[in-house]
Amino acid sequence: MQFGQARDEMVEVGRRLWQRGYVAANDGNISQRVGEDRLLATPTGVSKGFMTAEMLILTDMDGKVVRGELRPSSELNMHIEVYRLRPEIKAVVHAHPPVATSFSVAGIALDKCILPESVLTLGAIPVAGYATPSTDEMPASIRPFVSSHDALLLANHGAVTWAVSLEQAYFRMETLEQGAAIVHHALMLGNVNLLGPEEVAKLKAVGEKMGLGSKVLNCETNAGCTAETYATGPDADERLIETVARAVIEEISKK
Ligand SMILES: [Zn+2]
Repeated sequence: MQFGQARDEMVEVGRRLWQRGYVAANDGNISQRVGEDRLLATPTGVSKGFMTAEMLILTDMDGKVVRGELRPSSELNMHIEVYRLRPEIKAVVHAHPPVATSFSVAGIALDKCILPESVLTLGAIPVAGYATPSTDEMPASIRPFVSSHDALLLANHGAVTWAVSLEQAYFRMETLEQGAAIVHHALMLGNVNLLGPEEVAKLKAVGEKMGLGSKVLNCETNAGCTAETYATGPDADERLIETVARAVIEEISKK
């Protein structure tokens, strides 16, 4: 891909992220691998809706600026972690889409087989543990999930997607937020029917025909769940134990 074309694509994706309300103020960051040791990255302190090609920064794979006037995003180290663990990946998109971010705040993963489109293009989307933005905690928090997933929720922060092209990484962010919104509405209605193992097996055949690879269909199947049981599972049990333990400690310390 031509360098100029890569820059134009970054500007366009930034504009779409801002227009769709996936980023507020100067939130979010995008990067694209443009060479063996070269990354094109968005600058810090700039609204992605009003970014120009000249503002973009060229760095090496350690995040050191090679060309550009502005400073790269402080979250670039999280992007670099993805490129380090997945050499085939060409682009990373990080944003704070409100519904998906709400799931990250609630600590609820989007890891169930519900919508065929999400199942095929994203698979399960776990929640990475909370990490202080712009610190080394960020790459460490996503590390356990990068090899086995293509999209992640970041606890109390936002979402991140990656792919073999910037367009695909951006579309994954759109699919993620759309899926989160639909699951949220269904939860409000009180019931979520999951795809059963048979439907998932058929989807798997479709995925294989489309060459979608191993991250497809790692989400959970079940007959269905209600708003009360949606988030149940090992994580929910742990949270419940923690809540009860905290209440007990509070009660004891009162006496
Ligand atoms: Zn962020």
